[in-house]
Amino acid sequence: MTEATSNIAQAAQSSASPSDPYSREQQIFPKLSDEQIDRLVSYGSMEDLPAGTILFQRGDRRADFFLILEGNIEIFDLDDRGEPVVFTTHAQGQFTGELDLFNDRQILVGGRTGIDSRVARLTRAQFNRMYSTEQDIGEVIMRAYILRRTAFILHDQAGVSVIGEPTSREFLRIQRFLTRNGYPFAAKPMGEPGTADYANLHDIDLTRLPAVRTRSGAVHYSPTIADLADELGLTEAVDGEHIYDLAVIGAGPAGLSACVYAASENIDTIVVEAEAPGGQAGTSSKIENYLGFPTGISGQALAGRAWIQGQKFGAKFSIARAATDIASKDDLFEVKLQHDMNIKARSIILACGATYRSLALPNYEKFEGQGIHYAATGLEAQLCVNEEVAVIGGGNSAGQAAVFLSGHASHIHVLVR
Ligand SMILES: Cc1cc2nc3c(=O)[nH]c(=O)nc-3n(C[C@H](O)[C@H](O)[C@H](O)COP(=O)(O)OP(=O)(O)OC[C@H]3O[C@@H](n4cnc5c(N)ncnc54)[C@H](O)[C@@H]3O)c2cc1C
Repeated sequence: MTEATSNIAQAAQSSASPSDPYSREQQIFPKLSDEQIDRLVSYGSMEDLPAGTILFQRGDRRADFFLILEGNIEIFDLDDRGEPVVFTTHAQGQFTGELDLFNDRQILVGGRTGIDSRVARLTRAQFNRMYSTEQDIGEVIMRAYILRRTAFILHDQAGVSVIGEPTSREFLRIQRFLTRNGYPFAAKPMGEPGTADYANLHDIDLTRLPAVRTRSGAVHYSPTIADLADELGLTEAVDGEHIYDLAVIGAGPAGLSACVYAASENIDTIVVEAEAPGGQAGTSSKIENYLGFPTGISGQALAGRAWIQGQKFGAKFSIARAATDIASKDDLFEVKLQHDMNIKARSIILACGATYRSLALPNYEKFEGQGIHYAATGLEAQLCVNEEVAVIGGGNSAGQAAVFLSGHASHIHVLVR
């Protein structure tokens, strides 16, 4: 084990799970070979930096990529009081970054030199050029970045805290949004050990739950999805004057496929999504009939992969913004988004999918999102533990939901008309 990763490895050992990304040290914190280092350095510039130089901070957008040639880089999160806590140290031959290096979102962690160090710095443009040219290095980087983000999510690192009543619709709405956007968070349901103390310590007003507390200590009560996306830096800045070749409206499987194929052909593409990538498929516990996945894949994982794939080819994503209007003028389409944003594009693909059909039952709306759910993912499964559950419908999705939830609920009733 390298000095670089000892504290992370301890975290992995304490969870004792072979599926923990931190237990895959060679893949999550790979060391490039001397030959790979030589090739990578030629894309950027070398810098000698004194100990303690801040290279990037949580909240920055478009952070540079760093490869350590001598010395080290400490990666730090912020604790509950906003103080930096180093949770891993990259050593010679290792590199910084995670999935946000493929987009303009606010990054989740900070980085600084732990001792006097020599690094290779690649700006985003240089990183993109290197990534698309050096395929063997690109593969190592992509695998590491996916594992790093998965580890953040698994260990609630570098994210936010969400406090709420366990069965509250609003509490679930926020968790669902963060989960589906791959944003790490710690759920703190009221009634669970430690939550009341946490709320007390941070002066959280329990009459206004749910609340989202960020690493900087800001507390947001019942934020809208758009406001939360802005606050967490999930929304990428959209240049209203830029003319895209293609705007795709909707990031379900259809929109994501269109985006990947277009962007991979160098078509300048932007995807507009009202909520989170994945659409209906993002709510499926397992999709068995998607081409190329013989053992099946969860809808969330499928969407996450396609989303990264689109970004890898240079597509932009505007998340948590619904398209509200489309007009055409002088061979251009102008798409209006919520919150006064505009996009110009030469062509448009509408991939807005379908909305759920509800049941005409008394008080139905009252229980939507609070007892009545339209998905069967891990989030809903937690709510069904030892409960009697009714799955309504007789199609493929109902069958899958019944099988999946049967591992959690005390009894499943499948109601077919
Ligand atoms: C629980 C469940 C399980 C399923 N399992 C399977 C399966 O195993 N196999 C299978 O083949 N199919 C399955 N399906 C069906 C499959 O998910 C859908 O056929 C597929 O998602 C349709 O893809 P789509 O991209 O056309 O639309 P959708 O998935 O509906 O995506 C549309 C997207 O557009 C966004 N959008 C809508 N309007 C706007 C707007 N104005 N601005 C911005 N964004 C907008 C929405 O937020 C959404 O993300 C399942 C569906 C569900 C619900």
